[in-house]
Amino acid sequence: MEKIAVLTSGGDSPGMNACIRAVVRTALYYNMDVYGIERGYEGLINGDITRLNHRSVSDIIHKGGTFLKTSRCPEFKDLEVQKRGTYALSAYGIEGLVVIGGDGTFRGAKSLSDNFGIKVMGIPGTIDNDLAYTDYTLGFDTTVNTVLWAINNLRDTMHSHDRVSLLEVMGRNAGDIALYAGIAGGAEYILVPEVPYDLDEIASSIKKSNLRGKTSNTIVLAEGAGDREEIVQKIKEKTGINVKVTVLGYIQRGGSPNMADRVLAAKFAIKAVDLLKNGGESSAIGIKDNKIVAVPFEKAFNEKKVFDKDLFESARILGL
Ligand code: ADP
Repeated sequence: MEKIAVLTSGGDSPGMNACIRAVVRTALYYNMDVYGIERGYEGLINGDITRLNHRSVSDIIHKGGTFLKTSRCPEFKDLEVQKRGTYALSAYGIEGLVVIGGDGTFRGAKSLSDNFGIKVMGIPGTIDNDLAYTDYTLGFDTTVNTVLWAINNLRDTMHSHDRVSLLEVMGRNAGDIALYAGIAGGAEYILVPEVPYDLDEIASSIKKSNLRGKTSNTIVLAEGAGDREEIVQKIKEKTGINVKVTVLGYIQRGGSPNMADRVLAAKFAIKAVDLLKNGGESSAIGIKDNKIVAVPFEKAFNEKKVFDKDLFESARILGL
């Protein structure tokens, strides 16, 4: 394979730029031509394709976001629209594609591969860590550290005022961001979509701890785990204690990728380009037990993510 292209799609995550850089530099090392497609699948169907060289990816390794930009492009689910995308690839003679994104992006990749014979490698770029076939997704580690920074800062002020703090974090239907940041930040309560919780119990536990002299508590709420206003209301009703709410929002999507994500970006990119160069099957790239793996896309969608209940349980024990 002599010509490949790279795009980023869906929600951005820290480390996407480092990964694009690594794809480009690896391809150039193998004397392949490499192209950047802007705004994910939207750019593919519009033919927004540019040749990249070593300098195109200078000085981006440390930047959050994606310099190729990203988009949601719902019409790409339509086979006719995908076909238009493949015309753009043929016009440039591009035979292989690296897509960096989440499971939606992978569905588009699988369809391009199954229906139009394009070799596509998928790199899991999402902060949510919600794909079962890989232990970690690109950007998750940086995001958890950003959330941890927020918990540390909240602790300072909550402790000074004897307050209960509720921090809502991202993760869509997955609780990993809340779990890892919560346990690392010493949160007393971690509320995730994967584990049911009882608000009456939480309220009475806060009340009891208050009587024992514990005057501040931190609750980390994953966005998919319930309505924050309802939680605050219930705790106030049952305990008389005011809960201060912080919604971290998009702050946790941006920021310079940390060491773990930059190294992961390099490993994922090298594997993806190696597979394209050597005629490998279209695959989702991941990391399992510290080894870089490539699995069929179906496995990436169909395997159900197992939530780490043991880690969750230890967080409960440690937060008492
Ligand atoms: P993520 O990749 O982060 O999960 P989305 O779910 O928004 O984000 O998916 C990103 C893009 O992938 C969508 O905007 C769309 O262009 C494409 N996509 C999603 N689902 C499919 C599908 N079933 N078939 C083809 N393309 C899809």
